[in-house]
Amino acid sequence: MRAMILERQRQPLVMRDVALPRPGAGEVQLQVLACGICRTDLHVVDGELSEPKLPLIPGHQIIGRVTALGENVTRWRVGERIGVPWLGGSCGHCGFCRGHRENLCDWARYTGYQRNGGFAEYTLAAADYCFPIPEMFGDEQAAPLLCAGLIGYRAYRMAAEAGALDEVPILGLYGFGAAAHILIQVARHEGRRVFAFTRAGDEAAQRFALSLGAEWAGDSGQAPPALLDAAIIFAPAGELVPQALRTVRKGGRVVCAGIHMSEIPAFSYDLLWGERSLCSVANLTRHDGEAFLPLAAALPIATKVHIYPLAQVNQALDDLRAGRFTGAAVVVP
Ligand SMILES: [Zn+2]
Ligand SMILES: [Zn+2]
Repeated sequence: MRAMILERQRQPLVMRDVALPRPGAGEVQLQVLACGICRTDLHVVDGELSEPKLPLIPGHQIIGRVTALGENVTRWRVGERIGVPWLGGSCGHCGFCRGHRENLCDWARYTGYQRNGGFAEYTLAAADYCFPIPEMFGDEQAAPLLCAGLIGYRAYRMAAEAGALDEVPILGLYGFGAAAHILIQVARHEGRRVFAFTRAGDEAAQRFALSLGAEWAGDSGQAPPALLDAAIIFAPAGELVPQALRTVRKGGRVVCAGIHMSEIPAFSYDLLWGERSLCSVANLTRHDGEAFLPLAAALPIATKVHIYPLAQVNQALDDLRAGRFTGAAVVVP
C-alpha cells in the first residue's frame, strides 16, 4: 500500500510503498476513506511533541471501512464504516481508566503518534477505541469531527462547567480554525453568544467566524465589546493565556485546548484573582465520542473541508502552518 511516512522529525513526509498491515488480536484493518489533518500532526512533524514512533504514518482523524478483523473482535463487521480518533488505546486498569478518564492514562497510545495513523491507503486500529460514524456525514465531512470536533467539544463542556456559561453566556474562541468552526455551531445551537479572536489581520478567518454566527470577530489583542464568561484557546500561543484571562469576567474560566503551547509569559495575579480559573484539556475519552458524534448528526454540524490527495500531505501541513485556508484540511488516499 502507499503511505506518507515521517522518517525523521522536522523533515517532510515521504511517499513509500509498504506492506499491508495485518490486524492483531483486538484490532481491525481499515481501508482509509478520509483522514483529517490536525494541528497536532504539525507538532509531531515539527518536533514539538518529542516521542513519536519512527518511522511513523501520522494522521489521527480517520474514517475507514473495515476490511479485516483480528482475533476476538466482535464489535465491528467487515464492510462497516467507522472512525479512529487520537486516543488509540489505554491500559484499561489504572485509576484513570477505571474512572472513565482514559484520556489521562499514563500508558495510553495515540494514533498517528505511537501507532501508525491514516495518511495511508490502509491502517490498523484497536477495535474498542473506534466510533460508529453517523450515516448522514460524507467521509470527508466526518473526518474533522474526530479530533477538532471531539476534543473541541470536551473543551467546550469544560468551559461550561461550574456555571461559567450559565448566566450571561458569552464564549470567546481564540484561534478560529478547524475546532472553532465546529464548536461555534454547538454554542450557537445552545443559545450562547460567541466572540472570535484570530491572528492580527486575519480577515478571512474573522469573516468566516461572522458567517457562522459569531457576534463579534477581531484580533486576539483587541478588547471585545463585553467581558467573556468563558474562553477556549485553540491557538498554540502562550501569550493568549494572559490575554484571555484579561477578557474573562470574575468567576470565568479559560480552557487551553491544544496539546502544545509556546511558553506562557509571566502575568500579574490580578488576572486570575476573582475566582477565575485556568485549565487544560487533554485528549479524549470514549464517552466524549459517544456524546458528541450523535449530537453532531442531530444539529447537524456542517464542516468546511479542503481536500488534498495523499501525495500532497506536506502541502496540506504547510497550508495549515501558514493559515492559508479556513475550516479543516482532509486527506483522501
Ligand atoms: Zn488532533
Ligand atoms: Zn490506564
